[in-house]
Amino acid sequence: MCIRDRSVIYPGSFDPLTNGHINIIKRASKSFDKVVVAVAVNSSKSSIMNIDQRVKVIKKIFKNNNKIVVDKFEGLLVKYANQKKIKTILRGMRTVQDFEYELQMATSNNKLDSTIETIFMVADANFAHISSSLIKDIIKLGGSAKEFIPGAVESELKKILDKRK
Ligand code: ADP
Repeated sequence: MCIRDRSVIYPGSFDPLTNGHINIIKRASKSFDKVVVAVAVNSSKSSIMNIDQRVKVIKKIFKNNNKIVVDKFEGLLVKYANQKKIKTILRGMRTVQDFEYELQMATSNNKLDSTIETIFMVADANFAHISSSLIKDIIKLGGSAKEFIPGAVESELKKILDKRK
C-alpha cells in the first residue's frame, strides 16, 4: 500500500496534549499529506481542559505546519471520518494495555464501517511512558508536568488552574 498522497485522522481526547502525542503527529506528517488531529468532545467531568481550550492550544502548537489540521468531533468516529472523506484512522501504541483497547476499537470501527482502516504507530521509547492521565494526576497533586508537555500546554494549564483557585 502506498500511504503517500493520503490523509489520516488522529483522534483522541488530548486532555492535555503531551509530548508523546506531538511525536506521533510529527512522524505521521512525514508519511501523510495531511494529518487531521481530531479532538473528541467528551462530556466527562474529569477533563482538565474543555474542548475549546484543547483545540486552541493544539492549533497554536502546529500553526506553522500546514500539513497538520486541528478539528473537533462529537459522536461516532466513523461518521466523522466519512464526513471528512478520510478513510484512515491513526492511533498510537504504547503498551500491551493499549493494544487490547485499540484492537477492540479498531475492530468495532471496522465493523461499523468496513471502508475505514485503523493503522498504528509505535510510541517512541522516549515518550512511551507519557499519558494524559499521568499528567492530570501530577498536576492535581501539585507537581510539575513540564517534562512531559509542551510549554504552550503548560502555560494554558497554569491559567486554568489559577482560575479554579
Ligand atoms: P483517547 O482518550 O482516545 O485514548 P488520548 O488523547 O489518550 O485519547 O490518546 C490518543 C492516541 O494517542 C491514542 O491512540 C493513544 O494510544 C496515543 N498516545 C497517547 N499517549 C501517547 C504516547 N506517549 N506515545 C504515543 N502514543 C500515545
